[in-house]
Amino acid sequence: MPDNAFDDLSEIVSQVKEHLRFYREIGVTDIGGCSKPGPLLASTEARERSEPTAITPVREEAEFQEPQPADTALQASPDRPQFNLFGEPVPPPPASRSTGRAAQTPQILVAVDASLEAIREEIGDCTRCKLSEHRTNIVFGEGNPKARLVFIGEGPGADEDATGRPFVGRAGQLLDKIIASIGLRREDVYIANVVKCRPPGNRTPEKDETATCEPFLFRQLRFINPSVIVTLGLPALQSLLKSKDSITRARGHWREWNGVKVMPTFHPAYLLRDPSKKREVWEDIKNVRDYLVQQKLL
Ligand code: URA
Repeated sequence: MPDNAFDDLSEIVSQVKEHLRFYREIGVTDIGGCSKPGPLLASTEARERSEPTAITPVREEAEFQEPQPADTALQASPDRPQFNLFGEPVPPPPASRSTGRAAQTPQILVAVDASLEAIREEIGDCTRCKLSEHRTNIVFGEGNPKARLVFIGEGPGADEDATGRPFVGRAGQLLDKIIASIGLRREDVYIANVVKCRPPGNRTPEKDETATCEPFLFRQLRFINPSVIVTLGLPALQSLLKSKDSITRARGHWREWNGVKVMPTFHPAYLLRDPSKKREVWEDIKNVRDYLVQQKLL
């Protein structure tokens, strides 16, 4: 056996374990080799069913202003198909530039929900945790179901609870500016939270509340299958990555969630309390923008 064969094998085993853990988290118990999807669709097919969302140019915001990115020659990853912001497939890189990683990655069919509406329907008039006792509206999440970029916050505040929409208060207005700073509109991305009901007094969601609600978020993410997820604040980082890092240490460093790149950054509400931290968030968002440009998604 070659020296590195054992390492390769261990790597494959740990990747398979990670995938299986994810399936359990999102409630999938049966992973077959079936090529005909039943009620669950492969994500590309699901994606093809929804209408593309048009993008119009936006003005740059003074607080998050930066020159427009230059185009680059980098291609979509060979491991997973990429789609540009209009939902069109990006061609894979030529074989000569392949890293060879695809050959080592176990090909497991990923079952995803048929639509975001189906997930919303399953949530229903939820009473699965105590947050339901005080909420006015469930805040499911909103945006482009084919978004390449997703933002994940902590949980609804008063304005979100009143309207049923994520990030519509002061923190949301700042998030809109952050999104605009990379030439996108709110409708181009998808925005959701770890928990879908407002924690009383805007306290941090408790463990049991997060554990009850996050599988629905994971299903939304699996359906959307974005290229980049930006986690806003510590609870979103902990939910997605099960990280024990502080947000100060974690922010600005690329991570991965089930093959999707994750950029942790500060929560916009924190920026409202400490505007000096906008500089760091801008650095993180620039990194995200540069990656999307590299992948020809922006
Ligand atoms: N803060 C969040 O984390 N999410 C919202 O939707 C609003 C404020």
